[in-house]
Amino acid sequence: LAAAALAAVGRGWWVFPCHGIRLGGGCTCGRPDCRHPGKHPRTARGHRDASVDPEVVRRWWGRWPDANIGVACEPSGLVVIDIDPRHGGAATWAAWVRADGVDLVRTVTSLTGGGGRHLYFRAAAGRSPRDGAGRLGAGVDVKARGYVLLPPSAHATGRRYRWLPGAGPDDRDVEPLPAALRNADCGLRIAGSDRDRAAIHIPHSGLEVGDGGVAALLAGTAEGGRNVLLFRLACRLRGGGMPEARALALVLRAAANCRPPYDRAAAAELTRRVYRTYPPGYRKS
Ligand SMILES: [Zn+2]
Repeated sequence: LAAAALAAVGRGWWVFPCHGIRLGGGCTCGRPDCRHPGKHPRTARGHRDASVDPEVVRRWWGRWPDANIGVACEPSGLVVIDIDPRHGGAATWAAWVRADGVDLVRTVTSLTGGGGRHLYFRAAAGRSPRDGAGRLGAGVDVKARGYVLLPPSAHATGRRYRWLPGAGPDDRDVEPLPAALRNADCGLRIAGSDRDRAAIHIPHSGLEVGDGGVAALLAGTAEGGRNVLLFRLACRLRGGGMPEARALALVLRAAANCRPPYDRAAAAELTRRVYRTYPPGYRKS
């Protein structure tokens, strides 16, 4: 970890020590109820303590050899897109890639120990997107002013963060933040006709998507993720006050876009259930 921290500093990345994961599991802070095992800073000011001074970094990891490595995004000029497939991040990101030509393959990428991915981008001059969970859509977070953990930090699962093979910072450059993502703090935008784009505003969700966008959102969703994503979509449409007939049509389109397509009757039943169970304007987390 000390070597990786020093290598990061050599790249001009500002790092600071975070708590790690003990050999038998659990956070090195020792609190059994720690809510962010291995993810919270060891120093008082957290990412504001980050340094590019090798001496400081050596001292930190001399004192805490098992400390996870936090990288402070803003001083390092990084914007990291955090994709969590458990919350639908893969489908959201796929929609971005298709809609805006964002290429997820070419930039520096790490695999988190929890099954997610971190895509590293160079921040655009002047302005960064704001940090936020789900800011680009379900399961996709933006880290621009906060921090992320660098490989080979330990994850609560016992696995370690690692660079996607062939996609580490020694293998390829950190690409500039795609233009489509630069102004993304206004919510999920999906390319489509203007009519499409104006079609739906979904309050509370930060979503503004056209009919075409909604369908694209779930395109390619694989078995296992289909049910929960369609359910969430129906909840969002209900929450946005969309009439049931229109919501049903959209859910059926999205269902047909899954791979393999999700059963029509089941999708219709799911939509009916959501509309029966929740009041209009219902806000799911
Ligand atoms: Zn802890």
